[in-house]
Amino acid sequence: MDYQKFFKTRLNDLHEEGRYRVFADLERHAGDFPRATRHIDGETHEVTVWCSNDYLGMGQHPSVVEAMKNTIEQSGSGAGGTRNISGTNHNHVLLEQELADLHGKESALLFTSGYVSNWATLGTLGAEIPGCVVFSDEENHASMIEGIRHSRAEKRIWKHNSPEDLDRKLSEFPAEAPKLVAFESIYSMDGDIAPIAEICDVAEKHGAMTYLDEVHAVGMYGERGGGIAEKEGLLDRLTVIEGTLGKAYGVMGGYIAASAELCDFVRSFSSGFIFTTALPPAIAAGALASVRHLKQSEFERARQQERVRLVRSRLDALGIPHTPNPGHIIPVMVKDPVKCKWLSDLLLDNYGIYVQPINYPTVPKGTERLRITPSPLHTDADVEKLVSALSDLWSQCALARAVA
Ligand SMILES: *Cc1c(COP(=O)(O)O)cnc(C)c1O
Repeated sequence: MDYQKFFKTRLNDLHEEGRYRVFADLERHAGDFPRATRHIDGETHEVTVWCSNDYLGMGQHPSVVEAMKNTIEQSGSGAGGTRNISGTNHNHVLLEQELADLHGKESALLFTSGYVSNWATLGTLGAEIPGCVVFSDEENHASMIEGIRHSRAEKRIWKHNSPEDLDRKLSEFPAEAPKLVAFESIYSMDGDIAPIAEICDVAEKHGAMTYLDEVHAVGMYGERGGGIAEKEGLLDRLTVIEGTLGKAYGVMGGYIAASAELCDFVRSFSSGFIFTTALPPAIAAGALASVRHLKQSEFERARQQERVRLVRSRLDALGIPHTPNPGHIIPVMVKDPVKCKWLSDLLLDNYGIYVQPINYPTVPKGTERLRITPSPLHTDADVEKLVSALSDLWSQCALARAVA
């Protein structure tokens, strides 16, 4: 086989479909988010980032940066091993206690990323519980899908956010069969929110465990940043809550929070937990500072929500179509992969505005979009620059406007 030719052909297909992915080569500026320097063809340009998942700017928060610097000075750079073999640092222990408390659970377990936490936990529960059937929302994140697939457990896909369809699918199995219902609170591309209470009612009726991915909600919702389940007073109804330390918390890492027995079970049986080097102590210390800060500070959340409202109202005023949702994500719908990439390139090259195009397979074909994530740090002037650039491009591109 001509391997290189094979790779090239497949990559060419991506180019032709307009969904070949190009990285923006950025240097973010601590103390000056959302500003960054973009490197391209040996030159540099200043840009404003409008698509970060560091939703609250915690990645540059002085208490987070300070905690990370101090911990590097104290403990050095790496963890030195897996959690079992000399890699458990006191910061990991403190962070797990903090996360268990955040979600009102007995225990928490850290992983190297949110992806790994989903993959490893769903993979382990599905594989190790004899006869377990996994019920997965059809719009679940790739990390959950891969974890369920890896478990080789029998699975059923239920209609997005539909407790009725979940009920039907659960009814196909006897009451005593072990079952696990996996879903997300806020879906990251449309910003819609699951009917968590109804899903828990249905799961309870069928004796199923519940697994909730709160990756886009932790730090962002609830009085202490515990997510949608905290906001809606549902923490004790969920068997497992999963989150990331890499989005609103601004650092890196993933975790689950659950009963002491469940966490200990995953700790003891999960290959994706056992056989990999622990997070560096400084990462754990930075995440700990971030979680603690957002437990007692409402300022960042309130300001972020106010910025989201402002961007939405300015887009409405100019007729730029975006999908309304109860969350903080603003999907500006383009519905064409080539135009979506083209708009994103022009915003970056001509206006110094960075919004990544979101194409298939991240979203279904025909729903290509620009996904805008306002932060507490975007100024009124930033917002005006963004919406007027979009308005210019909408005219140039002859894209349809929404009717006010
Ligand atoms: C980003 C994401 C993850 C993975 O989290 P990381 O910490 O980035 O690995 C898991 N679930 C959802 C819904 C996500 O969007």
